Amino acid sequence: KRRKLIVGNWKLHGSIAGNQQLLQQLRLNLQALDAVDFALCLPYVYLFQGQQLLAGSNILWGSQNVSQYDEGAYTSCISAAMIAEFGCSYVIVGHSERRLLRLDSYDIIATKLLRALASGLTPIYCVGETQQERDAGMAEEVIQQQLLNMLNALDDDALERAKSLNIVVAYEPVWAIGSGQHASPQQAQLMHVLIRQLIATRDHALAQQVRILYGGSLTADNAHDMLSMHDIDGGLLGRSSLDAQAFTKVALIA
Ligand code: 13P
Repeated sequence: KRRKLIVGNWKLHGSIAGNQQLLQQLRLNLQALDAVDFALCLPYVYLFQGQQLLAGSNILWGSQNVSQYDEGAYTSCISAAMIAEFGCSYVIVGHSERRLLRLDSYDIIATKLLRALASGLTPIYCVGETQQERDAGMAEEVIQQQLLNMLNALDDDALERAKSLNIVVAYEPVWAIGSGQHASPQQAQLMHVLIRQLIATRDHALAQQVRILYGGSLTADNAHDMLSMHDIDGGLLGRSSLDAQAFTKVALIA
C-alpha cells in the first residue's frame, strides 16, 4: 500500500514574517499525523528559512523548479546541487505554469528531471491537459506524450535512481488549476490509471510504487472524494497550502 503524500506548492507567495507563522503552525498541526507524508515546495529565497523551521519535523521541503544547467554563466539560474544544499527532498518539474508561462520545452523538462535525480532530489513530475486539449478529445494523448517524455529521458541508471528516490507524478489538469473547478474523482482516477499503466510498460515495480498526486482546486471540501480513489495517492495543493487551517484539514482527511 502506498503512503499518501500531501504537497503544498506556494507558487509566488510568501514573506519572511508570514512564512514563519505558517510553518510553525503547520509543524504543530501535523506533528501527530504519522500515516501521511508531507512536503512544501517553497520559492527559492525561502528555502533557507524552510530548512531552519522544518528540520526535525515530519514536513519535508523542496523547490518549485530547478535549472537545466549545472553551473556556468547563467544569470539568475539555480542548480539542483544548490537546492540540495538546503536540505530539500523534492523539486517540482514541468509544472504547467512553467510550461505555459515560461516556455519550458519537453527537452528542458527532461533535462531538469535528470538534474534533480543526479543531485538526489525526488522530482514531482507534473502532467496535465489544457481545456482546449480536453475539448478536442486529446487529453489522454497529451498525458501520454508528457509521460513518455519522462520515461524516455530515464536511461537505466536514472531509472534506478528514480526508483530509489521514489519519484512522484502529479496529474494537474490545467483547467482545474486555480479555477475552483476540480476534476471529478472518476475523471482523475481514469487518468491516474492511464499514467500508472504507461509507467508499467517501462518498469512494473516503479508503476506500483510511484505516487500519483492529483492537483487542481483540491480543497478540504473535495479532498475526501478525490483521495479515496484507488490510484490517487495524494494531492498537490496550490491555494490550500497557503493557509494553515486549509492545509491541515486536507491533511486530516488524507
Ligand atoms: P490550486 O490548488 O491553487 O488550484 O493549484 C494547484 C497547483 O497548481 C499546484 O501545483
